[in-house]
Amino acid sequence: MNRPRSLATLIEALQKFPGVGPRTAQRMADAVLSMDYEAAREISRAVLRVKKTIVNCSVCGIHTERDPCDICDNAARDRGFICVVEEDEDVFAFERSGAHPGVYHVLGGVIKANKGVGPDKLRIGQLAERVREGGVREILIATDPSLYGETTAAYIIELLKDTGIIMTRPARGIPTGADLDYLDSETLSHAYTERKEIM
Ligand SMILES: [Zn+2]
Repeated sequence: MNRPRSLATLIEALQKFPGVGPRTAQRMADAVLSMDYEAAREISRAVLRVKKTIVNCSVCGIHTERDPCDICDNAARDRGFICVVEEDEDVFAFERSGAHPGVYHVLGGVIKANKGVGPDKLRIGQLAERVREGGVREILIATDPSLYGETTAAYIIELLKDTGIIMTRPARGIPTGADLDYLDSETLSHAYTERKEIM
């Protein structure tokens, strides 16, 4: 006798999550089997709700229920100063630190040439467009201080070098390989305040 079809389908589907292989998927499916109907329904509803309500902000790219997002829509934010980050979590980290009065641009990852992630897979073109539209004075390229983060920063610097805007990187002091969104607010604020101009 084989595994019931619906259970096999669930185990198959769960393996679409990153880091979930057959064994983990099996354990997750077992958990579904042992929870009550209401709890299982809550999970499936939450998944669908996210898919229905979340979009990328058409300005900065962050995931939001409102487009433009609250930050891009806030007239008090300095639109001439864009902090470029890899992912949503980095925006939350900067917001927690309270250091950045400007707006953001979420790339949606970093360039990983060896894994098939080229600049075209990220929101780099949209960043260049924002700069070209005018009104931008400075961009702080706050990608992680990792090999991929540095490569991505270098690519953006090269792309925008003739635009006349100021480009900065967060100060050293952020450990190499660190994930920006895991830094405490004080360290992040310091790296921000002491940011270095690149060109
Ligand atoms: Zn936005």
